[in-house]
Amino acid sequence: MKEQDIVIIGAGITGLTCAFQLRRKNRGVTLLECKDRVGGQIKTIKVDDFTFESGPNTGVVKYPEVAELFEQLSGHCEMETALESSKRRLIWKNDQFCELPSGLMSAIRTPLFTWYDKFRILGEPWRAKGEDPNESVGALAERRLGKSYVDYAVDPFLSGVYAGDPYRLPARLALPRLYALEQQYNSFIRGSIAKARIPKTERDRKATKKVFSAKGGFSMLVNALTEAIGMENIITSAKDITVSPDGKGGWDVCYVKNDEQVQIHAMHVVTTCGAYALPQLLPFVDSTCMSELSNLYYAPIVQMGVGIRDCGGNQWQAFGGLVPSCEKKNLLGILFPSACFQERAPKNGATFSFFIGGIRHPDYLMKSDEELTGWVNDSLYEMLRYPLGKKADEIRIFRHEKAIPQYEVTTDARLRAIDQLKRQYPTLTIAGNLRDGIGMGDRIKQAYDVAAQI
Ligand SMILES: Cc1cc2nc3c(=O)[nH]c(=O)nc-3n(C[C@H](O)[C@H](O)[C@H](O)COP(=O)(O)OP(=O)(O)OC[C@H]3O[C@@H](n4cnc5c(N)ncnc54)[C@H](O)[C@@H]3O)c2cc1C
Repeated sequence: MKEQDIVIIGAGITGLTCAFQLRRKNRGVTLLECKDRVGGQIKTIKVDDFTFESGPNTGVVKYPEVAELFEQLSGHCEMETALESSKRRLIWKNDQFCELPSGLMSAIRTPLFTWYDKFRILGEPWRAKGEDPNESVGALAERRLGKSYVDYAVDPFLSGVYAGDPYRLPARLALPRLYALEQQYNSFIRGSIAKARIPKTERDRKATKKVFSAKGGFSMLVNALTEAIGMENIITSAKDITVSPDGKGGWDVCYVKNDEQVQIHAMHVVTTCGAYALPQLLPFVDSTCMSELSNLYYAPIVQMGVGIRDCGGNQWQAFGGLVPSCEKKNLLGILFPSACFQERAPKNGATFSFFIGGIRHPDYLMKSDEELTGWVNDSLYEMLRYPLGKKADEIRIFRHEKAIPQYEVTTDARLRAIDQLKRQYPTLTIAGNLRDGIGMGDRIKQAYDVAAQI
């Protein structure tokens, strides 16, 4: 039986980043992954001159750790921030994409919000603070900003991030920073101004809030991390993993590789896989605690990489366009990766990333390739204004059955169960996107924090 310092389970961005940080400190790490590849939800696919992402297209440099990860991998992988020209965010309303306002004049002129709500927003700093800790993002935004802001800003934003429903996600859990603005400063506007005035350290300034990817796509980041960790420390196709306490503060980790049973004895175990994997992984946890731990719904998403070889001058210079649910279209939104990043499409061409499904339409996962392809081709004309009959030159369809965890009210019980397990078993860490945020920035930050605590 092999003796190891730390075993990490799950080789997505969280597990890889955590393993990398621990290896930097010369800790002994084995990273176990059940699939035959690393990267988890990250997968970049090259089709001729097109670069498609099957998972995340972008992240936000929300924490210094994101910048630091790329600094540490310098020479092996480069961060690419989105071009200035792709800053515009579009929202679908009344059969066209409208720009989300970014300044005072555009906020006054925008057709997205009603005049009533535009005037009403002037009173936002004086509106009473909410008292329901479980108030949904939708209810909170409706109360402070107005229904048209929910319909044409909050709803599409939450579709874009969570593929979720703003009236099902408590603000405290799904958008904790927004919730804190109201709780601490009594107002989003006052809170944002006060936050902007807080002096920043040099390290804080690394969190530029810019949109980023890795040059060449996120798989380049995965490759660089894999190389830095060392393949000798990563075991893929590790099936039927189980973790049991050894009774002395350590762990017995068993798995099957090439039909052979393997056992590792470890001082620490970190799990980074989805909540649904935990019952099989941690059979020693009692059923009440486990049901709280694993009670988490993941909204399904179909993502489609779409390539156009010749746009005929119809280049979309924007981050992407989101579709509010009240507009009753089949799509959640379309991102424009080749407008954000270099070399994602042939010269004169474009790549798009279509999103379909989410919490409101989990059934769309079952749509046939033909039907989904038809939706894409129809949208090229109806939404992206290509000539009638124009078809995508390349389409790749990626179905994600368990894509985005929904931080609904069950989150409190899950976090309590995680704390309870930590108190009982200090050398076991339950990490991954079942807590601490779902974005790439959140994942990287959590991995640093976990590595620092072990
Ligand atoms: C379609 C899609 C689009 C997205 N777009 C964005 C975006 O644009 N911006 C953004 O910031 N975020 C986005 N996200 C979210 C972000 O990609 C994820 O939150 C993040 O990649 C999750 O990383 P992770 O390592 O925590 O989990 P995962 O990537 O899910 O990795 C977990 C790993 O654990 C493995 N595993 C599971 N069970 C076991 C087991 N029993 N034994 C061993 N291994 C196991 C899995 O195979 C997987 O490799 C998107 C997600 C999806 C699905």
